[in-house]
Amino acid sequence: MGIHISTARASMPLLRILLLAIVLWIAFRLIRRIIGPAKTERPKQVDYEDMVTCAHCGVHLPRSQAITESGKTFCNEQHARAHERQ
Ligand SMILES: [Zn+2]
Repeated sequence: MGIHISTARASMPLLRILLLAIVLWIAFRLIRRIIGPAKTERPKQVDYEDMVTCAHCGVHLPRSQAITESGKTFCNEQHARAHERQ
């Protein structure tokens, strides 16, 4: 009779601890991201990345940061739109 009740009561704190552990783990990961600058996430390959020129202002920037519109590359959306209007 009393087994079911006692197991149910025993699993409650365990679940809470598990939930707390998950919440803490997520919080730590978030804090790490906010505090720690992403040094390891920036590979040195950025220096060797394909460089493109903005068709509007002529600035050089890596291809991954450029916006491609109708075969032309731009440094930002505003320049892409400005070029479209001309
Ligand atoms: Zn530009």
